[in-house]
Amino acid sequence: MNATSSFVEPTVKCHHCGDDCPAQPLTIEDKHFCCIGCQTVYEILQANDLCTYYNLDEKPGISL
Ligand SMILES: [Zn+2]
Repeated sequence: MNATSSFVEPTVKCHHCGDDCPAQPLTIEDKHFCCIGCQTVYEILQANDLCTYYNLDEKPGISL
């Protein structure tokens, strides 16, 4: 019955803020962004090699 190739896209989350992205999210490579603001922030972080911003849980093991 359902001969139509209905393609249901999964909900895409913004890589920066985690909000749901619009139907046509902004993208950088395979990352999706909900708005130009989040995309711009990501571009700045990436340009400055600061993507570790997303890995703040990783604490360097400082030992004497
Ligand atoms: Zn966002």
